[in-house]
Amino acid sequence: MTKYIFVTGGVISGIGKGITTASLGRLLINRGFKVNVVKIDPYLNVDAGVMNPFQHGEVFVTHDGAETDLDVGNYERFFGVDLNQQSNFTTGSVYNEVIQKERRGDYLGQTVQLIPHITDEIKRRIYQIGKDTDVDVVITEIGGTVGDFEMLPFIEAIRQMAMEVGRGDSLFLHVSLIYTLPNGESKSKPTQHSIRKLQEFGIHPDLLLCRTSQHLNDSVRRKISLLCGISEEFILEGLDTKCVDEIPLNFEQQGMGHLVSKKLGLERRATMDAEWIAMVDKLKNPKHTTNIAIVGKYTTGSDAYISVQEAIKHGGIANEADVHIEWVEAESLTDYPNIDKSFENIDGILVPGGFGDRGIEGMILAAKYARENRIPYFGLCLGMQCLVIEFARHMANLKNANSTEVDEKTPYPVIDLMLEQRAIADKGATMRLGHYPCVLKENTKSYAAYQQPIILERHRHRYELNNDFRSQLTEAGLAFSGVSPDGSLVEIAEVIDHPWMVGSQFHPEFQSKPLTPHPLFREFIAAVLRYQQEKTESGEGS
Ligand code: GLN
Repeated sequence: MTKYIFVTGGVISGIGKGITTASLGRLLINRGFKVNVVKIDPYLNVDAGVMNPFQHGEVFVTHDGAETDLDVGNYERFFGVDLNQQSNFTTGSVYNEVIQKERRGDYLGQTVQLIPHITDEIKRRIYQIGKDTDVDVVITEIGGTVGDFEMLPFIEAIRQMAMEVGRGDSLFLHVSLIYTLPNGESKSKPTQHSIRKLQEFGIHPDLLLCRTSQHLNDSVRRKISLLCGISEEFILEGLDTKCVDEIPLNFEQQGMGHLVSKKLGLERRATMDAEWIAMVDKLKNPKHTTNIAIVGKYTTGSDAYISVQEAIKHGGIANEADVHIEWVEAESLTDYPNIDKSFENIDGILVPGGFGDRGIEGMILAAKYARENRIPYFGLCLGMQCLVIEFARHMANLKNANSTEVDEKTPYPVIDLMLEQRAIADKGATMRLGHYPCVLKENTKSYAAYQQPIILERHRHRYELNNDFRSQLTEAGLAFSGVSPDGSLVEIAEVIDHPWMVGSQFHPEFQSKPLTPHPLFREFIAAVLRYQQEKTESGEGS
C-alpha cells in the first residue's frame, strides 16, 4: 500500500519546499523505505526547457531526457537515485494532454472541465508514479504559494487524493515562514493565514515546517497550534542554514522522520543515517580551502548553475576541501593585464554550459588564460566548446575559428550544428537530450578519472565538435578522450600538454551526488589542490 505525502508552501515563494521535500525523502530512505517524488509546477510552460535560467534557475536534465525544474536535481542529490520524465510536470503539460484527448474524441462527447478532467489527469499522474515504481511513499511537491490562482486545480486534486487513499495513508506537509521583525520578535500571522487558506480548500496540514531565522519559541508554537489546530509536536522549525546537506539531520533531530512514519503507519526497516552524517561531517570540517572561478553568463545570486555548484562541492568533499567560488562575469573579462586581476588567487577555472553569444569571447579568454598559465580548467558543454575554439585559434592556427552558434560566417566552424538538428524549427524538447554512452580512450585524464571504458552521461545541446577539424586539432595537441560508440561525436576533449584541462560535451554535474561525487569533479578539484600546493611552494621558494 503506497502512502502519499503532499508538500505545499505558504507566505512567500522560494521558501525551501524543494530542499524540505528532498530532506524528508532522505529521512524516509534512511529508515529503509522506498520513496519516489514528483514536482508539480503550476505554470503554462509545457516543461522547463525553454525557460530563462536567470528567472527560473537551472534546467535540470534527467537520464531519459526530461528538461525539468531544478528541484528534481535536489531530489536526485538527496535521494541518491535517478529520476525521470514522470518526476516533474506542469499545468501546461496537463492541459496539453487533456486537450489532445478531447481532440481525439476520447471523452465521448462529454463537456471537458477543470473538475473532473484536469484534476483527474493530475491525480492519474501522481498515482501512476506509485504504481510504476512500487514504492512505499510518493512525495508530491506543489510549486507556488497557497493562495495563487494557478495552484487551485492541484490543491483540489491532492485534497481528493487524500480522501481516496484515506487520511491514515496520506500526509500534508505545509512549509511556511515565521517572519522576524527588526526588533527580534517572531510573527506567525502570515503562517496562520496561509494555513487558513489551505483549510478553506479542505486541506488540513498534518505537519508544519516553519522557516525561520531564529529558533521557534514556545509561545509561537502554542499560538499556531491553538489557532490552526496542529498539535505542537507536529510544528517543526527550519532554521536558515548555509549547508543544505545538513538539513535532513536537523529535521531528524526534531523527530520529523519518526512523526511522519508514525502518522503513516510505517515501521522503521533500517537505520542508514551513518553515511549521510559522515558526509556532512567531512563537509563541515575540511582540511583544505581553495578558490576557483566560474566564468559564465549569469553570476552570483542566481540558481542558474545550481548543479554545477553542488558538483563542485562534492568534488570538494572527495578531496576534503572547501571550494570557494568566485563569480566572474564572462562579458566583462578583458585580456592581459586586466585578466591577471580577475584571476588573482584563483586555483582553477570552470566554464559552465550556456546558449547564445553573450559573453562567449570572455569564456574563450578564460580558456586561453587557463591553458597558458597551466591552471586547471573544466569546461562543461559550452565550456568544452570554448576550450576547443581557443585551442583551434591559438594552437592549430585556425584564426577566427568559432562556433556557428556565435558566428555563422566563421572561416573555421570548429563547433557546428549537429546534422540531426538542422531541420528542427521548434525550440521545446528538441535538443540532444538525456544520457548517451561514451567510450573513453585509455591513458587520458578522463580515463584516469572514471577508471572504466564506457560511461553514460547526460546531454543538452545542439552544437558539436566539427569532425572536419578533428585531425588538425589532434595534431596540435588536443586529445579526444571520449567519443560516442560509433565514433561520430566527440564527447570529451582535453589538452595533452597541460596539468588538467578537460572539456565535456555532456553535463557531468547532473549526475554528481553528495554521497557519490562525480569522478571528473573529483579529479578537477584534486588538480586544483595540486596547483595551489605548487603555487604555494614556488612562492615560498622565490
Ligand atoms: N549552446 C551550446 C549548444 O547548444 C552549448 C549548450 C550547453 O552548454 N548546454 O551546443
